[in-house]
Amino acid sequence: MNFEELKLAPAILQAVRELGYTAPTPIQAQAIPAVLAGHDLLAGAQTGTGKTAAFTLPMLQRLSESAAPGSKHIRALVLTPTRELAAQVEESVRTYAKHLDIRSTVIFGGVGMNPQIERIRRGVDVLVATPGRLLDLQQQGYMDLSQVEILVLDEADRMLDMGFIHDVKKVLALLPKSKQSLLFSATFSDEIRDLAGHLLNNPQSIQV
Ligand code: AMP
Repeated sequence: MNFEELKLAPAILQAVRELGYTAPTPIQAQAIPAVLAGHDLLAGAQTGTGKTAAFTLPMLQRLSESAAPGSKHIRALVLTPTRELAAQVEESVRTYAKHLDIRSTVIFGGVGMNPQIERIRRGVDVLVATPGRLLDLQQQGYMDLSQVEILVLDEADRMLDMGFIHDVKKVLALLPKSKQSLLFSATFSDEIRDLAGHLLNNPQSIQV
């Protein structure tokens, strides 16, 4: 299996090639076709498996297929439990989107809000965020989540372990009902299954 067989767009293949990736990892080989086909996804994957590219590559492709240049609303939202993971995921999004006209940014707590507000105001397609700061900015009226097309919950189990279930549910309530949702988790407790059951619509399940 190579990346070409996954029917990724030339601009995305080029970014992957520049990183020196030769073949998709198992999670990528399974997740990329499912996401490109528009399915919701329930994926069991540890960190280090290549899960970030597994959701980011097809997400970028779907966004670029229905281009919305200069759009002022957020089209894809990735929620992560920690600021470190948020920063790392956004860095990956930026790298994979290098040859695409897709803008991304990251927001998390513990730092000043103004640069984040300014960045959002200028327009962002992909937002990577921790739930608390996202809600803060939304409550202050800076965040239009009404047009989100793709939602990713990354490391959902850690998000719940850290006590973010109420924040996550509040964020989910702000999103449109019709969207593509992808849930990644290393472990599957009853609480995760319950969340997945509410969020995901006839999902494809992947376990690596
Ligand atoms: P992740 O599990 O998303 O944190 O990714 C772990 C590491 O694997 C990151 O440093 C990625 O750059 C790298 N990586 C992801 N996909 C591939 C691939 N197909 N081939 C080689 N390295 C990869």
